[in-house]
Amino acid sequence: MNGLDDRPVNAKADIDALRREFSGSLPTNGMPAEKVIEELVASTHDGLLGSASGRFFAWVLGGSTEAALAADWLISTWEQNGALYNCSPAASVIEEVAGDWIKQLFGLPSDASFAFTTGCQLAHFTGLAAARHRQLKNCGWDVEVDGLCGAPSITVFVNPEKHGSVQRAIRYLGIGSKNIVDLPTDKGGTIAINEIEDLLRETSGPKIMVLNAADLNIAACDNFDEIIPIAHAHDVWVHIDGAFGLFANISPKYQHLVKGIELADSWATDAHKWLNVPFDSGMAIIKDSVAHKASMTVSASYIEADSDARDQIDWNPEWSRRARGVPIYAALREMGKNGVIDLVERSCRYCEMIATQIGALDGAVLVHRPTLNQGLVRFERAGAADHENDRFTKKVMDLVNRSGEAFFSDTVWQGRTTMRISVVNWRTNENDIERTVAAVAKVLKEERARP
Ligand SMILES: *Cc1c(COP(=O)(O)O)cnc(C)c1O
Repeated sequence: MNGLDDRPVNAKADIDALRREFSGSLPTNGMPAEKVIEELVASTHDGLLGSASGRFFAWVLGGSTEAALAADWLISTWEQNGALYNCSPAASVIEEVAGDWIKQLFGLPSDASFAFTTGCQLAHFTGLAAARHRQLKNCGWDVEVDGLCGAPSITVFVNPEKHGSVQRAIRYLGIGSKNIVDLPTDKGGTIAINEIEDLLRETSGPKIMVLNAADLNIAACDNFDEIIPIAHAHDVWVHIDGAFGLFANISPKYQHLVKGIELADSWATDAHKWLNVPFDSGMAIIKDSVAHKASMTVSASYIEADSDARDQIDWNPEWSRRARGVPIYAALREMGKNGVIDLVERSCRYCEMIATQIGALDGAVLVHRPTLNQGLVRFERAGAADHENDRFTKKVMDLVNRSGEAFFSDTVWQGRTTMRISVVNWRTNENDIERTVAAVAKVLKEERARP
């Protein structure tokens, strides 16, 4: 970690080299632990991506605060199973407290229930399992007992710019992808409020709606304060994909972007993204704690419930699990509410600086000026066709990545290839920004010098 500033941000090894490095037959005999670890460190050296670096801006990955990382090592060292209070009394109570703090941090109802899952994918699964339970129960159908065969068909309305994990959660739940209906949008891609009412009225049966608190490309958020009351008037359960966008609600500067988000019925977000705890760490928060518990609880004769203690197994889709709420607790204590607000606001400020400074370079175009922590730029040659500039954008990005100075990922937005800038790491500082912009400027200059 101390060497991050001096190491390349990209992985240098290719797949063949890595396979040569790690292949070999199943060891017949063991070896000393220290040697295993020494070799592991040496062999992975060129195959690791510098995701922890302050100059890593690809996807939306996040870093780890020091306390969160150390707490993560501790819960593995302690070998605690965070399934039941009796398996780890301390972990159960720490998660109870962390859950309360998380609700306060995000400004969500204090009586909502929660689960610390592996990621936002399983947080969607958890929130939508509660939704499935409640919406079918309201039709007189107990899905936990009777299953889905013969059940009223559920329709799930989504923002067309949904993340792939939403569709997968719906598949896991047996609702099926063909029951997903895109919400109508206007030209700018925002949900067309005046068309929703008719759509909901015309759709019979139980309904769920999944809205975006920040899509992956431009961190666009739906108009929760307008859409959610309409959805509720039609008995629709509203679930929010707030993998990183829910964090906007903790900052006085950005909470206007997610106005009304607290009106929803369930929220899924990630701690391993903007809260900067290690992978894997997601959070589901659910207003209807009865539906939540009913959809997750197990009753096995050998499990003795300890009165009012929190047995995580009643709220989580996993059985045995790492007590992943402990690193969350550690991160919240290390940063405090003000520290998290600062992390969010700093990330947004840096994203704006990188996007506008790269956008101002000769040969670059600012495609989306960040409204939160996501920006888009594109690289163009004068007189070249759009598809040629798509390729050029990718080429410039690949050359920047190959330089090891900074790392980005690309995306297609409104039909055009762009380079995405995502800032979600507490480590990113002004020196990182200078180095990053300089690295992009250098590649563009070299490309201009080409005949
Ligand atoms: C990352 C992300 C997800 C998936 O989260 P995981 O933690 O990887 O499961 C879902 N939605 C959005 C908007 C995301 O950015």
